[in-house]
Amino acid sequence: MKAETVFLHGGASFDPVTGAVSTPIYQSATFRHPGLGESTGYDYSRALNPTRSVLEKRLALAEHGKYGLAFSSGMGAISSLIKLFKPGDNIIVSADLYGGTYRLFNGYYSKYGFSFTWADTSDFEQINKNCSPQTKALFIETPSNPMMKVTDIRRSADFIHEKGGFLIVDNTFLTPWFQNPLDFGADFVIHSGTKYLGGHHDALSGFIVHSNDEAEVRLRDAQMSEGAALAPFDAWLTLRGLKTLALRMDKAAINAEIIAGWLRGHPAVERVFWIGFPDHPQYGLSQNQSRGSGGMISFYMKDASQIPQVLKRVSLIMFAESLGGVDSLITYPVVQTHSAIPEAMRTAAGVSDKLLRLSIGIENVDDLIADLAQALPPAGLRISHAPVNLPN
Ligand SMILES: *Cc1c(COP(=O)(O)O)cnc(C)c1O
Repeated sequence: MKAETVFLHGGASFDPVTGAVSTPIYQSATFRHPGLGESTGYDYSRALNPTRSVLEKRLALAEHGKYGLAFSSGMGAISSLIKLFKPGDNIIVSADLYGGTYRLFNGYYSKYGFSFTWADTSDFEQINKNCSPQTKALFIETPSNPMMKVTDIRRSADFIHEKGGFLIVDNTFLTPWFQNPLDFGADFVIHSGTKYLGGHHDALSGFIVHSNDEAEVRLRDAQMSEGAALAPFDAWLTLRGLKTLALRMDKAAINAEIIAGWLRGHPAVERVFWIGFPDHPQYGLSQNQSRGSGGMISFYMKDASQIPQVLKRVSLIMFAESLGGVDSLITYPVVQTHSAIPEAMRTAAGVSDKLLRLSIGIENVDDLIADLAQALPPAGLRISHAPVNLPN
Protein backbone atom coordinates (compact mmCIF):
# COMPACT_ATOMS: atom_id res chain seq x y z
CA MET A 1 0.00 0.00 0.00
CA LYS A 2 1.24 3.49 -0.83
CA ALA A 3 1.25 6.23 1.79
CA GLU A 4 -2.02 7.97 0.84
CA THR A 5 -3.82 4.62 1.07
CA VAL A 6 -2.16 3.78 4.39
CA PHE A 7 -3.42 7.07 5.85
CA LEU A 8 -6.96 5.89 4.99
CA HIS A 9 -6.86 2.13 5.45
CA GLY A 10 -3.73 1.21 7.41
CA GLY A 11 -4.45 -1.14 10.30
CA ALA A 12 -8.16 -1.60 9.51
CA SER A 13 -10.40 -0.30 6.72
CA PHE A 14 -13.59 -1.07 8.63
CA ASP A 15 -14.80 -2.32 11.98
CA PRO A 16 -14.54 -6.14 11.95
CA VAL A 17 -17.57 -6.58 14.21
CA THR A 18 -20.14 -4.34 12.51
CA GLY A 19 -18.60 -3.49 9.15
CA ALA A 20 -18.77 0.22 10.00
CA VAL A 21 -16.54 2.01 7.49
CA SER A 22 -15.82 4.76 10.01
CA THR A 23 -13.84 3.26 12.89
CA PRO A 24 -16.24 3.27 15.87
CA ILE A 25 -15.42 5.32 18.94
CA TYR A 26 -15.14 2.66 21.62
CA GLN A 27 -16.07 5.01 24.43
CA SER A 28 -15.52 2.46 27.16
CA ALA A 29 -13.05 2.67 30.03
CA THR A 30 -13.25 -1.03 30.80
CA PHE A 31 -14.10 -4.30 29.05
CA ARG A 32 -16.04 -7.29 30.31
CA HIS A 33 -14.14 -10.53 30.76
CA PRO A 34 -15.92 -13.61 29.35
CA GLY A 35 -14.56 -15.64 32.29
CA LEU A 36 -11.66 -15.97 34.66
CA GLY A 37 -8.39 -15.76 32.78
CA GLU A 38 -10.22 -14.79 29.60
CA SER A 39 -10.01 -11.50 27.73
CA THR A 40 -11.12 -10.11 24.36
CA GLY A 41 -7.66 -8.56 24.21
CA TYR A 42 -9.04 -5.39 25.75
CA ASP A 43 -9.21 -5.02 29.54
CA TYR A 44 -8.91 -1.36 30.44
CA SER A 45 -8.53 1.65 28.12
CA ARG A 46 -5.39 3.05 29.77
CA ALA A 47 -3.64 -0.11 28.50
CA LEU A 48 -5.43 -0.67 25.17
CA ASN A 49 -8.55 0.67 23.49
CA PRO A 50 -9.88 -0.60 20.13
CA THR A 51 -10.21 2.87 18.55
CA ARG A 52 -6.73 3.81 19.67
CA SER A 53 -5.33 0.46 18.48
CA VAL A 54 -6.43 1.16 14.89
CA LEU A 55 -4.74 4.57 15.01
CA GLU A 56 -1.56 3.10 16.53
CA LYS A 57 -1.32 0.49 13.77
CA ARG A 58 -1.99 3.11 11.11
CA LEU A 59 0.75 5.41 12.41
CA ALA A 60 3.21 2.52 12.60
CA LEU A 61 2.52 1.71 8.93
CA ALA A 62 2.63 5.38 7.92
CA GLU A 63 6.06 5.84 9.53
CA HIS A 64 7.41 2.47 8.30
CA GLY A 65 7.77 1.13 11.84
CA LYS A 66 6.70 -2.07 13.54
CA TYR A 67 5.02 -0.41 16.52
CA GLY A 68 2.99 2.74 17.14
CA LEU A 69 1.87 4.17 20.47
CA ALA A 70 -0.66 6.98 20.80
CA PHE A 71 -0.53 9.45 23.68
CA SER A 72 -2.73 12.26 24.91
CA SER A 73 -0.28 14.83 23.49
CA GLY A 74 3.13 15.17 21.90
CA MET A 75 4.57 15.96 25.32
CA GLY A 76 2.97 12.80 26.72
CA ALA A 77 4.77 10.80 24.02
CA ILE A 78 8.13 12.45 24.70
CA SER A 79 7.77 12.01 28.46
CA SER A 80 7.07 8.28 28.08
CA LEU A 81 9.96 7.88 25.64
CA ILE A 82 12.38 9.30 28.22
CA LYS A 83 11.48 6.32 30.46
CA LEU A 84 13.75 4.23 28.21
CA PHE A 85 16.70 6.07 29.76
CA LYS A 86 17.99 6.31 33.30
CA PRO A 87 19.49 8.94 35.59
CA GLY A 88 23.08 9.62 34.58
CA ASP A 89 22.30 9.23 30.88
CA ASN A 90 22.97 12.17 28.59
CA ILE A 91 20.90 13.12 25.56
CA ILE A 92 22.12 15.59 22.92
CA VAL A 93 19.18 17.73 21.79
CA SER A 94 18.72 20.12 18.85
CA ALA A 95 19.25 23.62 20.23
CA ASP A 96 16.28 25.17 18.49
CA LEU A 97 13.32 22.93 18.99
CA TYR A 98 9.82 23.08 20.41
CA GLY A 99 9.97 25.10 23.64
CA GLY A 100 7.79 22.61 25.51
CA THR A 101 10.39 19.90 24.94
CA TYR A 102 13.01 22.19 26.45
CA ARG A 103 10.75 22.85 29.46
CA LEU A 104 10.13 19.12 29.99
CA PHE A 105 13.81 18.19 29.74
CA ASN A 106 15.38 21.07 31.62
CA GLY A 107 12.57 21.85 34.02
CA TYR A 108 11.78 18.27 35.02
CA TYR A 109 13.98 15.42 33.86
CA SER A 110 17.23 17.25 34.60
CA LYS A 111 16.09 17.40 38.25
CA TYR A 112 15.95 13.62 38.30
CA GLY A 113 19.53 13.22 37.12
CA PHE A 114 19.11 13.04 33.34
CA SER A 115 21.42 15.38 31.48
CA PHE A 116 20.71 17.23 28.27
CA THR A 117 23.21 18.93 26.01
CA TRP A 118 21.86 21.51 23.59
CA ALA A 119 23.65 21.62 20.25
CA ASP A 120 23.11 22.87 16.72
CA THR A 121 22.63 19.36 15.32
CA SER A 122 22.57 20.68 11.72
CA ASP A 123 26.32 21.12 12.23
CA PHE A 124 27.68 17.60 12.59
CA GLU A 125 30.80 18.80 14.44
CA GLN A 126 28.56 20.07 17.25
CA ILE A 127 27.17 16.58 17.74
CA ASN A 128 30.61 15.02 17.69
CA LYS A 129 32.08 17.60 20.07
CA ASN A 130 29.31 17.24 22.66
CA CYS A 131 29.21 13.46 22.73
CA SER A 132 30.41 11.85 25.97
CA PRO A 133 30.51 8.24 27.24
CA GLN A 134 27.20 9.03 29.01
CA THR A 135 25.50 10.05 25.76
CA LYS A 136 22.74 7.53 25.08
CA ALA A 137 20.66 9.34 22.49
CA LEU A 138 20.37 12.17 20.01
CA PHE A 139 17.03 13.95 20.00
CA ILE A 140 16.57 16.03 16.88
CA GLU A 141 13.91 18.07 15.16
CA THR A 142 14.49 18.37 11.44
CA PRO A 143 13.64 20.85 10.14
CA SER A 144 14.09 22.59 13.47
CA ASN A 145 11.50 24.73 15.11
CA PRO A 146 11.46 27.64 14.35
CA MET A 147 14.75 28.25 12.50
CA MET A 148 14.27 25.54 9.84
CA LYS A 149 17.73 24.06 10.21
CA VAL A 150 18.05 20.62 8.69
CA THR A 151 19.91 17.79 10.41
CA ASP A 152 21.33 14.85 8.47
CA ILE A 153 19.27 11.90 9.73
CA ARG A 154 21.43 9.15 8.22
CA ARG A 155 24.69 10.60 9.46
CA SER A 156 23.28 11.24 12.94
CA ALA A 157 21.95 7.68 13.11
CA ASP A 158 25.27 6.15 12.04
CA PHE A 159 27.14 8.29 14.54
CA ILE A 160 24.98 7.52 17.57
CA HIS A 161 24.66 3.83 16.71
CA GLU A 162 28.41 3.54 16.75
CA LYS A 163 28.30 4.87 20.33
CA GLY A 164 25.55 2.38 21.20
CA GLY A 165 22.83 5.05 21.48
CA PHE A 166 19.49 5.82 19.85
CA LEU A 167 18.41 8.44 17.35
CA ILE A 168 15.06 10.06 18.14
CA VAL A 169 13.49 12.30 15.48
CA ASP A 170 10.56 14.63 16.11
CA ASN A 171 8.86 14.45 12.70
CA THR A 172 5.97 16.79 13.51
CA PHE A 173 6.87 19.41 10.85
CA LEU A 174 7.16 17.21 7.76
CA THR A 175 4.96 14.24 8.74
CA PRO A 176 5.22 10.78 7.15
CA TRP A 177 3.93 12.25 3.89
CA PHE A 178 7.16 14.19 3.38
CA GLN A 179 9.72 12.39 5.53
CA ASN A 180 10.19 8.93 7.08
CA PRO A 181 13.12 9.13 9.53
CA LEU A 182 13.07 5.38 10.30
CA ASP A 183 14.08 4.76 6.66
CA PHE A 184 17.25 6.76 7.30
CA GLY A 185 18.22 4.84 10.41
CA ALA A 186 16.33 6.69 13.17
CA ASP A 187 15.25 4.45 16.06
CA PHE A 188 12.23 6.40 17.29
CA VAL A 189 9.95 8.86 15.57
CA ILE A 190 7.97 11.29 17.71
CA HIS A 191 4.91 13.24 16.62
CA SER A 192 2.76 15.91 18.01
CA GLY A 193 -0.36 14.63 16.26
CA THR A 194 -2.03 17.83 17.45
CA LYS A 195 -0.45 19.45 14.40
CA TYR A 196 -0.58 18.03 10.84
CA LEU A 197 -1.71 14.48 11.62
CA GLY A 198 -4.93 15.63 13.28
CA GLY A 199 -4.78 18.70 11.11
CA HIS A 200 -7.84 20.67 12.24
CA HIS A 201 -6.79 22.39 15.49
CA ASP A 202 -9.44 20.40 17.35
CA ALA A 203 -7.62 17.59 19.20
CA LEU A 204 -4.35 16.96 21.01
CA SER A 205 -2.42 13.76 20.37
CA GLY A 206 1.12 12.41 20.36
CA PHE A 207 2.90 9.36 18.96
CA ILE A 208 5.96 7.19 19.17
CA VAL A 209 6.73 4.91 16.23
CA HIS A 210 9.61 2.44 16.25
CA SER A 211 10.65 -1.15 15.49
CA ASN A 212 12.50 -2.19 18.66
CA ASP A 213 10.94 -5.27 20.32
CA GLU A 214 12.57 -4.71 23.70
CA ALA A 215 11.68 -1.02 23.77
CA GLU A 216 8.08 -1.84 22.82
CA VAL A 217 7.57 -3.82 26.04
CA ARG A 218 8.97 -0.97 28.11
CA LEU A 219 7.11 1.78 26.23
CA ARG A 220 3.77 -0.05 26.54
CA ASP A 221 4.45 -0.39 30.24
CA ALA A 222 5.35 3.30 30.53
CA GLN A 223 2.20 4.30 28.62
CA MET A 224 0.01 2.09 30.78
CA SER A 225 1.71 3.10 34.03
CA GLU A 226 1.82 6.85 33.41
CA GLY A 227 -1.65 7.08 31.90
CA ALA A 228 -1.01 9.61 29.16
CA ALA A 229 -2.79 7.39 26.62
CA LEU A 230 -4.95 8.96 23.90
CA ALA A 231 -8.71 9.06 24.61
CA PRO A 232 -11.07 7.23 22.19
CA PHE A 233 -12.76 10.33 20.79
CA ASP A 234 -9.45 12.12 20.19
CA ALA A 235 -8.12 8.95 18.56
CA TRP A 236 -11.14 9.02 16.24
CA LEU A 237 -10.60 12.70 15.38
CA THR A 238 -6.98 11.93 14.58
CA LEU A 239 -7.97 8.95 12.42
CA ARG A 240 -10.35 11.22 10.57
CA GLY A 241 -7.72 13.92 10.14
CA LEU A 242 -5.13 11.45 8.94
CA LYS A 243 -7.35 10.40 6.02
CA THR A 244 -6.67 13.72 4.26
CA LEU A 245 -3.05 14.19 5.38
CA ALA A 246 -1.56 13.88 1.88
CA LEU A 247 -4.05 16.31 0.32
CA ARG A 248 -3.66 18.85 3.13
CA MET A 249 0.13 18.66 3.19
CA ASP A 250 0.42 19.08 -0.57
CA LYS A 251 -1.90 22.09 -0.59
CA ALA A 252 -0.17 23.69 2.42
CA ALA A 253 3.22 23.12 0.79
CA ILE A 254 2.15 24.75 -2.49
CA ASN A 255 0.73 27.71 -0.59
CA ALA A 256 3.88 27.96 1.55
CA GLU A 257 6.14 28.00 -1.51
CA ILE A 258 4.24 30.95 -2.98
CA ILE A 259 4.13 32.81 0.33
CA ALA A 260 7.81 32.21 1.13
CA GLY A 261 8.78 33.73 -2.23
CA TRP A 262 6.38 36.64 -1.73
CA LEU A 263 7.68 37.37 1.77
CA ARG A 264 11.24 37.37 0.47
CA GLY A 265 10.42 40.27 -1.78
CA HIS A 266 8.60 42.29 0.89
CA PRO A 267 10.35 45.51 1.99
CA ALA A 268 9.48 45.07 5.70
CA VAL A 269 10.93 41.55 5.81
CA GLU A 270 14.63 41.05 6.50
CA ARG A 271 15.04 37.32 6.00
CA VAL A 272 12.85 34.29 5.31
CA PHE A 273 13.55 30.79 6.63
CA TRP A 274 11.99 28.08 4.49
CA ILE A 275 13.62 24.78 3.61
CA GLY A 276 12.49 24.88 -0.03
CA PHE A 277 14.70 27.80 -1.07
CA PRO A 278 17.50 26.48 -3.28
CA ASP A 279 19.90 28.73 -1.31
CA HIS A 280 18.86 27.27 2.07
CA PRO A 281 22.16 26.07 3.59
CA GLN A 282 20.96 22.45 3.76
CA TYR A 283 18.83 22.42 0.59
CA GLY A 284 20.68 19.44 -0.89
CA LEU A 285 20.25 17.45 2.30
CA SER A 286 16.51 18.24 2.42
CA GLN A 287 16.12 17.10 -1.16
CA ASN A 288 17.79 13.84 -0.22
CA GLN A 289 15.93 12.95 2.98
CA SER A 290 12.54 14.64 2.45
CA ARG A 291 9.92 14.65 -0.27
CA GLY A 292 8.57 18.14 0.35
CA SER A 293 9.16 21.39 2.16
CA GLY A 294 6.03 21.43 4.30
CA GLY A 295 3.94 24.38 5.31
CA MET A 296 6.13 26.13 7.88
CA ILE A 297 7.87 29.46 7.28
CA SER A 298 9.71 31.70 9.72
CA PHE A 299 10.84 35.23 8.97
CA TYR A 300 12.64 38.17 10.52
CA MET A 301 10.96 41.54 10.30
CA LYS A 302 13.42 44.37 9.72
CA ASP A 303 11.89 46.24 12.63
CA ALA A 304 10.74 44.28 15.69
CA SER A 305 8.70 47.25 16.92
CA GLN A 306 6.26 46.65 14.04
CA ILE A 307 5.38 43.15 15.22
CA PRO A 308 2.56 44.06 17.66
CA GLN A 309 0.80 45.87 14.81
CA VAL A 310 1.23 42.95 12.43
CA LEU A 311 -0.23 40.56 15.00
CA LYS A 312 -3.18 42.89 15.55
CA ARG A 313 -3.83 43.46 11.85
CA VAL A 314 -3.85 39.88 10.57
CA SER A 315 -7.47 38.85 10.23
CA LEU A 316 -7.75 35.67 8.15
CA ILE A 317 -4.47 34.35 9.51
CA MET A 318 -5.00 33.86 13.24
CA PHE A 319 -2.49 34.89 15.87
CA ALA A 320 -2.37 31.67 17.86
CA GLU A 321 0.00 29.06 19.16
CA SER A 322 0.30 25.71 17.35
CA LEU A 323 0.68 24.73 13.70
CA GLY A 324 -0.22 22.18 11.09
CA GLY A 325 -3.96 22.73 10.81
CA VAL A 326 -6.12 23.55 7.81
CA ASP A 327 -6.34 27.17 9.07
CA SER A 328 -3.25 29.36 8.79
CA LEU A 329 -1.74 30.61 12.03
CA ILE A 330 0.92 33.16 12.89
CA THR A 331 3.03 32.72 16.01
CA TYR A 332 5.49 34.98 17.81
CA PRO A 333 7.94 32.37 19.12
CA VAL A 334 9.65 34.54 21.77
CA VAL A 335 6.40 35.01 23.67
CA GLN A 336 4.60 31.77 22.73
CA THR A 337 6.13 28.47 21.63
CA HIS A 338 9.66 29.28 22.80
CA SER A 339 9.10 31.40 25.91
CA ALA A 340 10.29 28.56 28.16
CA ILE A 341 13.80 28.75 26.68
CA PRO A 342 16.18 31.15 28.46
CA GLU A 343 16.75 34.37 26.53
CA ALA A 344 20.49 33.92 25.96
CA MET A 345 20.02 30.45 24.55
CA ARG A 346 17.05 31.53 22.46
CA THR A 347 18.95 34.47 20.99
CA ALA A 348 21.98 32.31 20.22
CA ALA A 349 19.69 29.98 18.28
CA GLY A 350 18.29 32.94 16.30
CA VAL A 351 14.89 33.05 18.01
CA SER A 352 14.91 36.82 18.46
CA ASP A 353 12.16 39.39 18.95
CA LYS A 354 12.21 39.98 15.16
CA LEU A 355 11.08 36.45 14.38
CA LEU A 356 7.58 35.45 13.33
CA ARG A 357 6.47 31.96 12.36
CA LEU A 358 3.72 31.10 9.91
CA SER A 359 1.89 27.80 9.69
CA ILE A 360 0.34 27.90 6.25
CA GLY A 361 -3.03 26.23 5.88
CA ILE A 362 -5.14 25.21 2.91
CA GLU A 363 -6.97 28.50 2.25
CA ASN A 364 -6.79 30.12 -1.17
CA VAL A 365 -3.28 31.54 -1.40
CA ASP A 366 -4.45 34.89 -2.83
CA ASP A 367 -6.54 35.42 0.29
CA LEU A 368 -3.58 34.60 2.52
CA ILE A 369 -1.30 36.98 0.64
CA ALA A 370 -3.92 39.73 0.69
CA ASP A 371 -4.13 39.30 4.46
CA LEU A 372 -0.35 39.46 4.89
CA ALA A 373 -0.16 42.44 2.52
CA GLN A 374 -2.61 44.45 4.59
CA ALA A 375 -1.01 43.36 7.88
CA LEU A 376 2.64 44.03 7.06
CA PRO A 377 3.82 47.63 7.07
CA PRO A 378 3.41 49.97 5.37
CA ALA A 379 -0.28 49.34 5.91
CA GLY A 380 -2.31 49.07 2.76
CA LEU A 381 0.70 48.69 0.47
CA ARG A 382 -0.23 46.38 -2.36
CA ILE A 383 2.43 44.03 -3.60
CA SER A 384 1.95 41.66 -6.49
CA HIS A 385 2.19 38.03 -5.56
CA ALA A 386 3.45 36.64 -8.84
CA PRO A 387 4.54 33.28 -7.49
CA VAL A 388 7.98 31.95 -6.85
CA ASN A 389 10.61 33.68 -8.79
CA LEU A 390 13.02 32.67 -6.09
CA PRO A 391 15.97 35.03 -5.80
CA ASN A 392 19.29 33.34 -5.16
C1 LIG B 1 3.59 21.01 19.48
C2 LIG B 1 4.85 20.26 19.40
C3 LIG B 1 5.21 19.33 20.39
C4 LIG B 1 4.34 19.10 21.60
O1 LIG B 1 3.15 18.47 21.24
P1 LIG B 1 1.75 18.67 22.02
O2 LIG B 1 0.82 17.84 21.23
O3 LIG B 1 1.44 20.12 22.01
O4 LIG B 1 1.98 18.16 23.40
C5 LIG B 1 6.39 18.64 20.22
N1 LIG B 1 7.19 18.84 19.15
C6 LIG B 1 6.87 19.73 18.19
C7 LIG B 1 7.78 19.91 17.03
C8 LIG B 1 5.70 20.47 18.28
O5 LIG B 1 5.41 21.36 17.33
